[in-house]
Amino acid sequence: LKVTLLKKITILGSTGSIGVQSLQVCKNMGYHIVALSANSSIDQFEAQVREFCPQYAVLADEAAYNRFTRRIADLPIKVLYGVEGLCKIAALPQNDIVLNAIVGIAGLKPTLSALEAGHDLALANKESLVAGGKLVTELAEKRHARILPVDSEHSAIFQCLSGFEGHCKPQKIILTASGGPFFGKKRDELQNVELSDALNHPNWSMGAKITIDSATLMNKGLEVIEAVWLFGVSPKNIEIVVQRESIVHSAVEFADHSVIAQLGLPDMKIPIQYALTYPKRFPCEVPRLSLKDIAKLTFYEPDMETFECLAACIEAITRGGLYPAVVNGANEQAVKLFLAGKIPFLKIGELVRRALNEIDCPMEHYHLDDVFRADRLARDFVLQNAD
Ligand code: NAD
Ligand code: MG
Repeated sequence: LKVTLLKKITILGSTGSIGVQSLQVCKNMGYHIVALSANSSIDQFEAQVREFCPQYAVLADEAAYNRFTRRIADLPIKVLYGVEGLCKIAALPQNDIVLNAIVGIAGLKPTLSALEAGHDLALANKESLVAGGKLVTELAEKRHARILPVDSEHSAIFQCLSGFEGHCKPQKIILTASGGPFFGKKRDELQNVELSDALNHPNWSMGAKITIDSATLMNKGLEVIEAVWLFGVSPKNIEIVVQRESIVHSAVEFADHSVIAQLGLPDMKIPIQYALTYPKRFPCEVPRLSLKDIAKLTFYEPDMETFECLAACIEAITRGGLYPAVVNGANEQAVKLFLAGKIPFLKIGELVRRALNEIDCPMEHYHLDDVFRADRLARDFVLQNAD
């Protein structure tokens, strides 16, 4: 079975939380790894390269490249670096599918490169779709490449919709949110939260940036924008519901008010594997869901006043144009400052909101350069207004 279904995969960002779990899935499935990339975790990356023997390995910059090539001089492997290297491995003709697990807008050019080559793209890197949604989806259509969502909510929606394509469109998407570590808290209780509190997610273990995004609810805002682009729904037809246990990963409602949801334990290996094996399903190492053990599922309304990133994202995608790139860029910069201990927690939301209000970018028609310009403007705005 494995031989006939053997796929050849390139994983971008293989040393991250999603990257590591993706390699585990590929190992279980017996898939062949064509290329891997990492930013700076050289030890971990060397171990991955030695285990999975890819043809290509890509590092962030020349310094990492030099250190790495000395270490793996005994291996028959091509080592590249930088964005050009990432774009090159994303487009390799031998790829059956490319999994983008880079964090941040750094994933945008590799996303476009994989799609330009006509490859199916398993997309964890939501920021590339948030900042460049129009360019990314238009290119996928033009090149007949599929975008297969890895994000658990979008995988859930994708699974709920499969089989209905061409027959009926969802009337509404019900996007679930865990609520994060600060669920139920008001602004005055969030004044003095520590970095370690924000990094302490109740249900998921993830990279630092998305963990902070989950604490501010920026993550849910990014996911609204992601859903707009992936499923062609209007933001006003996306309802956000806090689902504290992270068991219902999202749902769709049809015209007859029938609702279909996807459930499972909170483990990214399920959506990662489904994106890689779509439309087939295979056994996965994730334990079975026992509803009896879960016993209770609780749902709440999100608090958009306290968590202003969420409201800012919805406003950004409703305005359209480059505003999603602005809120994304502002957030990336603000999270960087928060992780470095330079701004307090609530300042992240304040800066994202102010960037949206104060940066003017009215363009409906834009190119890739404009997306990066909007991202730069937003980052500079945050740096100038951080004190
Ligand atoms: P992470 O920080 O754990 O890993 C990021 C990976 O990207 C690492 O391999 C790192 O080396 C690489 N990287 C970082 N900056 C880079 C740059 N400038 N250029 C090239 N490579 C770079 O992040 P993660 O938690 O694995 O998340 C990855 C993406 O998946 C994010 O977009 C995140 O929103 C999304 N996502 C993650 C989860 C999760 O459970 N972790 C769930 C849903 C979606
Ligand atoms: Mg998600």
